Amino acid sequence: MYRTHSNGELRLANVGQEVTLAGWVQKSRDKGFMIWVDLRDRYGITQLIFDEERTPKEMVEKAKTLGREFVIQITGEVIERVSKNKNIPTGEVEILVKKLDILNASKTPPFTIEDETDGGDELRMKYRYLDIRRNPVKDNLIFRSKVSIEVRKYLSDAGFIEVETPVLIKSTPEGARDFVVPSRMNEGQFYALPQSPQTFKQLLMVGGLDKYFQIVKCFRDEDLRADRQPEFTQIDCEMAFVEQEDILNAFEGLTRHLLSEVNGVEIAAFPRMTYDEAMKKYGNDKPDIRFGMEFGELNAVAQHKEFGVFNNAELVVGIAVPGGASYTRKEIDKLIEWVKRPQIGALGMVYVKCNEDGTFKSSVDKFYDQEDLAKWAAATGAKPGDLICVLSGGAHKVRAQLSALRMEMAERLGLRDPKVFAPLWVIDFPLLEWDEETERFHAMHHPFTSPKPEDMHLLDTDPGKVRANAYDLVLNGNEIGGGSIRIHDKETQALMLSHLGFTPEEAKEQFGFLMNAFEYGAPPHGGLAFGLDRLVAILGGQETIRDFIAFPKNNSGRDVMIDAPSTIDDEQLKELSLKLNLQ
Ligand code: ASP
Repeated sequence: MYRTHSNGELRLANVGQEVTLAGWVQKSRDKGFMIWVDLRDRYGITQLIFDEERTPKEMVEKAKTLGREFVIQITGEVIERVSKNKNIPTGEVEILVKKLDILNASKTPPFTIEDETDGGDELRMKYRYLDIRRNPVKDNLIFRSKVSIEVRKYLSDAGFIEVETPVLIKSTPEGARDFVVPSRMNEGQFYALPQSPQTFKQLLMVGGLDKYFQIVKCFRDEDLRADRQPEFTQIDCEMAFVEQEDILNAFEGLTRHLLSEVNGVEIAAFPRMTYDEAMKKYGNDKPDIRFGMEFGELNAVAQHKEFGVFNNAELVVGIAVPGGASYTRKEIDKLIEWVKRPQIGALGMVYVKCNEDGTFKSSVDKFYDQEDLAKWAAATGAKPGDLICVLSGGAHKVRAQLSALRMEMAERLGLRDPKVFAPLWVIDFPLLEWDEETERFHAMHHPFTSPKPEDMHLLDTDPGKVRANAYDLVLNGNEIGGGSIRIHDKETQALMLSHLGFTPEEAKEQFGFLMNAFEYGAPPHGGLAFGLDRLVAILGGQETIRDFIAFPKNNSGRDVMIDAPSTIDDEQLKELSLKLNLQ
């Protein structure tokens, strides 16, 4: 037996017992006549003591050779500590060692295995197995496991069954590029890795399984944005014989369960907001509603004077920044610089200081009087002491810019408290989205999402106006889940694909299997998928999903530990009938 106890377990009640422990040397202090060693494992730290008078001499000699991260096994007696350490649960005892075995030596680690390490990101990723020994990373992985287990518990109690779907498949369109895998046995042909199990879960509904879930890896070959992983995990779900309302209730239940079990937070019914409302009020389809600063549209109260910038704009819109009236000229100039950065792209910013005495001082006093500015304050909900920030331009762009400013100001004002949870459903998404680059409509969610029946007639005349039975679950400004009621008849699916620019042949080639299935009694169905990595990070009160993934990829999609991706040798290429054509 390697150990009788873990290193987080022993207490005063164990004093007098002989125990065997194993673990890693966190640190050792050699005082000549005595050596102390902190022994660490996943469960904690236990102090060992080697004492010249009470520990056999050869064991003391061996203890002198120990270095950081050596793996050892000891046997000894639990004794009460003279100077107790109140900071750790085992701090009242120590082990008087009788026997020491070095199970494995260790090189000096390239960074300190401490909560606050001296290792940079790249180094920690290269030696991720050492990084995982550190509490913050280890605790995140334990936390993730807890969330996954609660998900499985809740869903299986609710009658969902977990089904594994294949990983070597044909493309599933979720709007990204596929990762592909060449097939050796089928020369010149390729599998795609699933961007999601979308079509399979729909086929499981046709198969009559009724309620499906899977905690599943998905793969999307996207240009890497900050904190995106090319492979990530979804909690993927689908239900048959449901309407949108049933789905929202089922997964609001799951989310509430997680918040309660994992965070001890009880949340009443989640608010719901239409996509249009979210865009109007927050300029964003995943609004952070932990704080206000809602948009106030100012066209009606700002386009009646001689100010051309506003008069020529499609939208004039502002927010009231709490307490912002006290900003100095310099601070406001900096803010204007901030919105003009290329990442935000505003051309300028008009501001109004709402003075404590009820008067206003604006950057456009030349054009607008106090009465005008009072109307702006009313529209943005500004109170004395606030600063109204106003942007103008094309509606779509200006909303995105003001949304970025709103989030930035909330961050600066400390309004984005990670311990506060504000979930909501955003519903009634548009079915289609115009893509400037390809100059055609794309499915905003995916091509299997059903249009709202009452909007179907617009498909030919005004496709951009058609709303979908699609919804997102948003938590603290992040989309943590999204889904839709699906099309379940062949004709509608064919119509949808033709609107997306597929010829009937292409539609048949790519999605014939699904449309065929729809001809054999497909039940009405719908579902959604949560992004597990992000969900876990938010519940864990952190921003970076990489910190909750055991072996993440870096920002260039590389695993720097195993050095992947990598080249393959000519023999392998030949076997796969592949020829590289690198310039
Ligand atoms: N497959 C979708 C996605 O990955 C989720 C869904 O519609 O259920 O976003």
